[in-house]
Amino acid sequence: MDSYKEPLKELARPYRKAVLKALLVLTIIGAILFSSMNLLKGSFPLAIVEIAMGVYAIIVYRAIRHTRHLERWIIAYLFPFFTAMMFAMATPRATSAVHAWVLLIPIISHLLMGRRLGLAVSLFYMGIAAVIFLFRHQDQPEMMQALPITNIAVISLCILVFSHVYEVTRETSERQLMKIAQTDPLTGLANRARLTDIFEREKHRARRYNSPISVLVLDLDHFKDVNDDHGHETGDRALQYIARTFRECLRATDLAARLGGEEFGILLSNTNSEQALEVAEKIRIAVASTPLTINGNVIRLTLSGGVAELGTDGDTLRELVRAADARLYAAKDAGRNQIVPALSPSMVTART
Ligand code: GH3
Ligand code: MG
Ligand code: MG
Repeated sequence: MDSYKEPLKELARPYRKAVLKALLVLTIIGAILFSSMNLLKGSFPLAIVEIAMGVYAIIVYRAIRHTRHLERWIIAYLFPFFTAMMFAMATPRATSAVHAWVLLIPIISHLLMGRRLGLAVSLFYMGIAAVIFLFRHQDQPEMMQALPITNIAVISLCILVFSHVYEVTRETSERQLMKIAQTDPLTGLANRARLTDIFEREKHRARRYNSPISVLVLDLDHFKDVNDDHGHETGDRALQYIARTFRECLRATDLAARLGGEEFGILLSNTNSEQALEVAEKIRIAVASTPLTINGNVIRLTLSGGVAELGTDGDTLRELVRAADARLYAAKDAGRNQIVPALSPSMVTART
């Protein structure tokens, strides 16, 4: 589970909203200016399109204030906006200067729609603009020469490339920052924030497909002694070894997180509490049966754990961790190196 797509989308939202708002305000100002000039000039179809875009910009501006569907509004605005731009370029009475607007397409598309869709939409509309340009100027020999055409093509390409490179680099560094913010630096496991994010996503999926989710909470036994006997650095290496053991015992769809200190939470999607107990036992046995040798010291580690299942033990991660934690402490009380299972549905019914 190493996708950061959802949190990244969340991160991009505020700045995309700010860019869209700026574009809407500029559209409204532009619509007033250009429609007035075109009305005076007698270019009525163009003036009507400009007024319509201005009114639409006001509607979108109001709609996006509290929307949860910003991406949809961006698409719903940009397509008419770019289409109106193409219409203006194709209007015989419009001046050639209208073509300068094409340079805005790659910038706006990348800022508002990201690198993939941004590039696709830019290529699409810039292609149409090129065809309109060639069509309109085909009988103007001074424009149909290599030099002016190359000039326009190169500058358009430059802006397209700069916008794309900028957006790719921005997304990459955002992804790296997100990864750092959601990873435990010592073990490389997820941290609590990432566990919470992924839990929310998996919970929605579980509801939709009616599939189970379980949570394990595992804590190393007498870990303080490892630090006291062998030093903190050895303790750190032992924690890294535990993280490796988790990775070996888990499926790609499971998520192991360090909750703090030497306590870990494992999210098992598509897994009921009985299957989760098997996974926990597999980890427990792997840890207990493989002594760790660091600097010639043999360190025997064991862990205790508790299991909880979505639904029977609660609906939030906090509730599930609390239930699994209570069982973990029951396992400690019962002598450590063991896992206390979740209550089976029959036990839950018997209790009520
Ligand atoms: P129990 O079986 O009851 O869990 O005993 P314990 O000694 O594991 O539990 P306790 O909570 O008393 O101690 C946990 C210890 O884990 C204390 C601390 O020294 C150690 N610890 C927590 N975080 C780290 C870490 O990042 N690195 C190292 N080396 N040790 C850590
Ligand atoms: Mg402990
Ligand atoms: Mg602990």
